Amino acid sequence: MPEQMTKSALPSVQAEGHEVTPRLEIRNIRRFFEGRAVVDDVSLTVLPGQVTCLLGPSGCGKSTTLRMIAGVEMQDEGEIYVDGKLICDTLFRVPPERREIGLMFQDFALFPHLSVGDNVAFGLKGPKDQKRARAHELLDRVSLAQYIDDYPHQLSGGEQQRVALARALAPRPKIMLMDEPFSGLDNRLRDGIRDETLSVLKEEDTAVLLVTHEPEEAMRMADEIALMRDGRIVQQGAPYNVYTRPVDKAAVAFFSDVN
Ligand code: ADP
Ligand code: MG
Repeated sequence: MPEQMTKSALPSVQAEGHEVTPRLEIRNIRRFFEGRAVVDDVSLTVLPGQVTCLLGPSGCGKSTTLRMIAGVEMQDEGEIYVDGKLICDTLFRVPPERREIGLMFQDFALFPHLSVGDNVAFGLKGPKDQKRARAHELLDRVSLAQYIDDYPHQLSGGEQQRVALARALAPRPKIMLMDEPFSGLDNRLRDGIRDETLSVLKEEDTAVLLVTHEPEEAMRMADEIALMRDGRIVQQGAPYNVYTRPVDKAAVAFFSDVN
């Protein structure tokens, strides 16, 4: 039996007295660029139905971490598990399209030549009416069902963002990776869209790893915060604990712009 087949049995973590297998677990991930570890021994878990936030200043290695989980970049060391199953180590690699991972990035582009409904149904398989029904269900969740036959350019930026969320959720990903998904949006819209996104994610019961450089966003959305600096996780815990018991002066300074 190849080595990777024997590794997939994972110990589960204790949560509220029950054994829970994390939706996502990354263990001791490292990635080197030009001899420098830009992601350095990072370990993280995301539990079912929860939002874990990878928070840290620009350049600390957040996006590189997400790209390795998505499978578009390969780690130099470490392992990644989804639902307790090994999807990637240094020898074995499930291709990105078979990882059942949803992605949402800042410059989420909708397909301009496809209707809103076809955008949402794009990654789905099966009969046409079934795909449309799922697209309708998701568009209804983001309060845009009436635009199912319209085209992206007919919607506002905030509405397009909600269509992108519906599209990412349509195939029922096991975990959703979001890389600064709100930073392209107007300030006035952002809080509303954050709250709405959170409630849609909870309704769909989707676990999320959210990347942001904004402490305020992490405090608003996360069940768990992993604070990252220079490629390493320096502190991890519930938002309140991370905020009220900063690990060092740099963490105090980083959090000082939350109001
Ligand atoms: P963040 O998302 O936290 O802003 P990134 O993961 O994008 O950080 O980048 C972390 C570090 O890795 C940065 O110093 C960046 O310049 C470097 N980096 C990212 N991708 C590459 C690459 N393909 N080649 C060389 N250096 C890279
Ligand atoms: Mg980034």
